[in-house]
Amino acid sequence: MYFSEDKVSEIIEKNDIVELISQYLNLTKKGKNHWGLCPFHTEKTPSFSVSLEKQLFYCFGCSVGGNVITFVQKIERLSYVEALYFLAKRAGIPIDERIDKNELEKIKAKEELYKINTEAAKFFYENIKKNANAMEYLSGRGLEQNIAKKFGIGYSIDSWDKLNRFLKSKGYSDDLIERTGLIVKKDKGYYDRFRNRIMFPIIDLKGNVIAFGGRVLDESKPKYLNSPETMIYSKSNSIYALNIVKEIRGLKNIIVVEGYMDVISLYQFGIKNVVASLGTAFTKQQARLLKRYANEIIIAYDSDVAGQSATLKGLSILQKEGCIVKVLTLPIGMDPDDFIRSKGVSAFNDLLNRSYSLIEYKIHNAKKNFDLSILDDRVKFSKKLAVILSKLESPIEIDVYIKKFTKELRINEEAIYAEVKKNKRKHISGNNRHNIISRLKKDENDLSGQIIAEKKILNICALYKDKSEYVFKRIKPDSFSKGLHEKIANIINLKIKEGKMISAGEILIHLEDEKEKEKASQVFNIDISKKDIELLDIYIDKIYQFSIGNKIEELTIAMNECFEREEKEKANKIFMEIMDLQKKKK
Ligand SMILES: [Zn+2]
Repeated sequence: MYFSEDKVSEIIEKNDIVELISQYLNLTKKGKNHWGLCPFHTEKTPSFSVSLEKQLFYCFGCSVGGNVITFVQKIERLSYVEALYFLAKRAGIPIDERIDKNELEKIKAKEELYKINTEAAKFFYENIKKNANAMEYLSGRGLEQNIAKKFGIGYSIDSWDKLNRFLKSKGYSDDLIERTGLIVKKDKGYYDRFRNRIMFPIIDLKGNVIAFGGRVLDESKPKYLNSPETMIYSKSNSIYALNIVKEIRGLKNIIVVEGYMDVISLYQFGIKNVVASLGTAFTKQQARLLKRYANEIIIAYDSDVAGQSATLKGLSILQKEGCIVKVLTLPIGMDPDDFIRSKGVSAFNDLLNRSYSLIEYKIHNAKKNFDLSILDDRVKFSKKLAVILSKLESPIEIDVYIKKFTKELRINEEAIYAEVKKNKRKHISGNNRHNIISRLKKDENDLSGQIIAEKKILNICALYKDKSEYVFKRIKPDSFSKGLHEKIANIINLKIKEGKMISAGEILIHLEDEKEKEKASQVFNIDISKKDIELLDIYIDKIYQFSIGNKIEELTIAMNECFEREEKEKANKIFMEIMDLQKKKK
């Protein structure tokens, strides 16, 4: 890091957090804080707070918080140094030689690459009007001029170096152009990557052209050619047309399709809340990005086998990120573009309304393989159904589906129920193993953050009496991790109840053996800064969240045990308790 401490302080000082955040969202002052709708999770009532006094922000919905630098890092998706640069520029603070030269060069290079891509996009756009084949292709697909313009659709000339020569005439070097992926280096020199293709610019949330997708006009291969990964384009972090969708007011849900043309075609028919995942391998980062704009995501991939397995993968990733996911199923052999052009918008809306939930989709897929008029198939399908239902946590939901299908299957309800139970038992033992593994992982990752938060709190408590009272009004000593931390928390809490405060040195006196004392001095071996005091609420929340997580795990095991003993009512009760806790979780 080449920003001096003084410089960082100056940058923070000259960028008022309330003023800065107001540029991204509407803030209303209530009490000491300013409130707004959180830009990092979807919500209807404001739980995102900004404090002028502390120069901090914090979201009570998703627990994201920090200072002006953290905010810029998150919202603009920048590195720490990039965020400092961004803020310095914003406040008119001159950047001196203390900045990391490499970082600065990287930022400058990125800006150049955006410019090159923008020039290329303009070039492609101008070309399409001059090329009869390309225009014919667009009109053949029923694409209107204004829509083609909206998405910046262009055409790459059938030439080895037209684009490269154009860009060089604008003053860019081969080396820089190559870094956009628009040209490729070979023995004899550079040649254009995209030739004789319809070009779709991929634009990020800030409006920069970051990459291109190119489609052939005929049936030659590859049908689609995309920009490679570059310093400004990462496929797993990008979503096509999200820059357009994010502008929609009152956005309720987002439809995810596979291809550029699906997005554009649906848009032309007035269905505008559509994005493409740029390939079928849906990623966690993409799920998080989508979730910033809508909680409900509808997957509308092609109905071929590849599309189906991609749908299932996408569904589980989105669900893990806490999205409500649905599946729109298209007739075999059709993509959304084909469908809406041949069947029309109302037929598409019908499909939308009949979208499946994840579990319905799985059942639907399983059912396709059986002829339910044959007894043998009905038995086989029942078994399959039981396997799917056994993955559900809620006994109520399981009941609903069993009732729904017993009529159709003409099979005894209890028989299916017994089958679900049998599978659930298998699932539980497998699950326990999974829990242990994930717990170990948590030990390594989450737990370190948890331990740090605990240490900070214990230190603050040993320094300030009022903070110490505040802490133990909000969390109990048993929320700290078992062992030493819990012990120390107990000691402090007891003193607080006596109206006294206890120093770190004094705490050590209350511990039994030397080893513990040694460990405890390590706990108090850290410095507490002003910032730590400001972050106290975040530390407390971290501990609180962790203890809820543990409680949920305990209850889930208890619920599964009840389920096995067929104590349905008790299982339901525990389930409700879990749901209540889930609500308190971030
Ligand atoms: Zn939030």
